[in-house]
Amino acid sequence: MTTNSSIHPPQRLLFGPGPTQVAPSVYAAMSQPIVSHMDPYFFQTSEAVQDMLRTVFGTKNPLTFAISGTGSGGMETAISSLVEPGTKVCVFANGFFCDRMTEMAKRNGGNVVRLEKPWGEVFTDAEAAEFIAHEKPQVVMYVQAETSTGAFQQGTGICKAAHDAGALVIADVVTSLGAMPVKVDETGIDIAYSCTQKGLSCVPGLSPITVSPRAAEYIEARKTPNRSWYFDLKLLNDYYKVSHRYHHTASATLFYALREALSLITQEGVENRWERHRRMHHAFVSGIEKLGLKMHVAPEHRIVNLNTPRVPEGVDDAKVRKLLMDEHGIEIMGGFGPLAGKVFRIGIMGPLATPEHVENFLKVFANALE
Ligand code: PLP
Repeated sequence: MTTNSSIHPPQRLLFGPGPTQVAPSVYAAMSQPIVSHMDPYFFQTSEAVQDMLRTVFGTKNPLTFAISGTGSGGMETAISSLVEPGTKVCVFANGFFCDRMTEMAKRNGGNVVRLEKPWGEVFTDAEAAEFIAHEKPQVVMYVQAETSTGAFQQGTGICKAAHDAGALVIADVVTSLGAMPVKVDETGIDIAYSCTQKGLSCVPGLSPITVSPRAAEYIEARKTPNRSWYFDLKLLNDYYKVSHRYHHTASATLFYALREALSLITQEGVENRWERHRRMHHAFVSGIEKLGLKMHVAPEHRIVNLNTPRVPEGVDDAKVRKLLMDEHGIEIMGGFGPLAGKVFRIGIMGPLATPEHVENFLKVFANALE
């Protein structure tokens, strides 16, 4: 086999909201020979992935696996599973990804009502309880870590209010999983979905999802078939966990990568990893504040692995981002929607969440701001 390749990507330091830096052993796992999606080795790999996902999600849910697709595939799976024509859905709307959830719920025929907050803020327990008690939904949706704003909402109050009203809760944990305590069972989330390319420090392509026994029963009992065939949890469960009958050609390569990325996380220890991200967040914020920048989100509501410092007066954020990319191969992102030109979005995650990387980043960032 020739090792000459026509692929020579530039070396980047991925300090954006994702995809983030990937460890060499994850790339090495991806260069192993593939097996088929029906091979016993594939199912062993998938089982190992399921076990480790339960640990990072913080759940005992038997129905936990990685599906083929990016984070939006997980979102589509969760929503098409619980939302049928006429289902009443409450959305806590404080950023871009709640809008995507709203759109998907509407496409599935849901009757959607929203409680709005400015981008960067979160909802109090009292606001959540009042909204849900008033609307009496069957399904409640929120984004735990809003990547468009930098705001984190654990969601315990939302889940309690939803359960008091007999509703099921979908939480987007795309940016929090692997870097922050998602705590699915303790929080009371019924379906949580994520991606591989952020807090799990893996390549994009799979979407971890976990489903509570209550939500699984609801799905089993629903009267109309899921409008999505590809993302039908009943069919996926049968393929991954029950009969292993063919459903789609899952990529062994991506499963190897995720298995390795999750092994690195469990070797480090999930709690140690959360703590490392928390410490590096504080180091980053203290450096950013020394440079005179202010954070967009209140300290107690910040996503620790995705920071949103405000763009200082008179600074063109696009120029700063271009300079970092052109001169240092560093990627960060800007804000969009109501936050366009107003915030930077800087991820300190996985292999880049170390004192050396934070220090070096702050040095080049300070120069780029001048
Ligand atoms: N939800 C959130 C909070 C996200 O940040 C993203 C992507 O950045 C998505 C959903 C969609 O994920 P993907 O781009 O992997 O489809």
